[in-house]
Amino acid sequence: MSTHPDHYIKLADHAKKASHLKSVAALLGWDQETYMPGGGADARAEQVALMAGIQHEMLTDPKLGDLIGACTADTSLSQGDTQEAANIREMRRDYDKRTKIPAELVSALAEATSRAQHAWKDAREQSDFAAFKPWLDKVLDLTREKAKCLSDGHGELYDALIDEYEPNAKASEIEAIFTPLKKEISDLVLNIAENGKAPSKAVLNRPITPAKQEAFGRFVAKSCGFDFSRGRLDITTHPFCEGVGPGDTRMTTRYRESSWTDSLYGIMHEMGHGLYEQGLPLGQSHGQSGPHQIGMPCGEAVSLGIHESQSRLWENAVGCSLPFWKWALPHAKEFFGEVMGDQTPETMAAAVTTAEPSLIRVEADEGTYNLHIMIRFELERAILSGDLSTADLPAAWNDAYKTYMGLDVPSDKEGVLQDVHWSFGLIGYFPTYTLGNLYAAQFWAQVRSENADLDNQIAAGNFEPLLAWFRTNVHQHGRRYTPAQLCERATGKPLSNEPLVSYLKDKLYPVYGL
Ligand code: ZN
Repeated sequence: MSTHPDHYIKLADHAKKASHLKSVAALLGWDQETYMPGGGADARAEQVALMAGIQHEMLTDPKLGDLIGACTADTSLSQGDTQEAANIREMRRDYDKRTKIPAELVSALAEATSRAQHAWKDAREQSDFAAFKPWLDKVLDLTREKAKCLSDGHGELYDALIDEYEPNAKASEIEAIFTPLKKEISDLVLNIAENGKAPSKAVLNRPITPAKQEAFGRFVAKSCGFDFSRGRLDITTHPFCEGVGPGDTRMTTRYRESSWTDSLYGIMHEMGHGLYEQGLPLGQSHGQSGPHQIGMPCGEAVSLGIHESQSRLWENAVGCSLPFWKWALPHAKEFFGEVMGDQTPETMAAAVTTAEPSLIRVEADEGTYNLHIMIRFELERAILSGDLSTADLPAAWNDAYKTYMGLDVPSDKEGVLQDVHWSFGLIGYFPTYTLGNLYAAQFWAQVRSENADLDNQIAAGNFEPLLAWFRTNVHQHGRRYTPAQLCERATGKPLSNEPLVSYLKDKLYPVYGL
């Protein structure tokens, strides 16, 4: 029996309905990417827009504002370190942010970004930055407008934008972590490029049929703890994972016959996101009393950075490790047969550990990936503030790739035009990728310090203790704490770059014989 007052029960009801609407919209999106025939595209676009409108109405409904007000005023609910207090605090935050941006600006941004995406596609095709520049300027103007509305004139505009993805993060704090990190990783990568001896990667291109890759990928995901009775795996061009709703987490991947680890690590990445979604406390089955958490902040993922920490951890720290291959290789030999016959756990772990400078972010390896991100963070912050004009952006991009990775960028297609994010107005999104790697490394160091047997457990295919640590320290909290608080509670320290730098050095130098 719940003892919650009426206004809190009503708030939870409202949140649940809004969450169900979100599930319906997510399902439309998932279907569009997986099974919808092309002929359904026009109607689907209208369906998606209609759903977005209804969702927006529901989430900015003055009645919701009144309920949040009543709950905030009820200090027996809204004070203290409880789930209820966190839910009210976070719903207040969400509601205030949503109602701060005028409807005209929302539609102006929607129209500009939709056109900017088309312009970006053509411009990228032609490697013609000048054709994209007016659209980028337009999107930037509107994005600045939006940031002004969100920040009420306080602080750096960029902070108001990151806040959408990484609540409470500040550009200046990220800069303080990224600047030394960029130098460390750049030195590491340039040293390896100059003096390292790369391991053989030939095994990664041996042909494995998609059916065999899928069977193995499913086996690995299940072994790591992904619950297929509450989740799915399907095929899409661009892999993703979506928590559609309670008991329904859907991930996707793609298969290339001549590159079987793409799908394996694609699955392990999305599975990391999926394990987080499956571990969020949505119902009363998690030993909670009182109302459900469906649509309530404590039932939601806290940030993109923390989400990405889960995917990166399983993909890289676990999946590209020697203990993992001690367990996985005999199974890979069963699933794939003769083609894996000459491999040892050592050769496999070395083959998947790489740090090679490259131009394209989405194809970058673990060693170099963060350089791509930190370069983008610096540049987008500068174009947002106006310190860098968009006319000078391509040259600044090329300079950064030369400085940090030693690369000449031959064309804007392989340079400043490669990512879709800016045409969407997604400024402040990029840093969450590296924040994810930073969180992952810090969590990883902590788990290892608490569990000396972890490597043996992984080598025996026992992933349960690792998953349990994340269930306890990360998943079960939802948005109860900020990402920074969550990190500090779980690891005893604020986020720093030291664990990631040590992790990369310890992992990469031996493989490259340094
Ligand atoms: Zn991800």
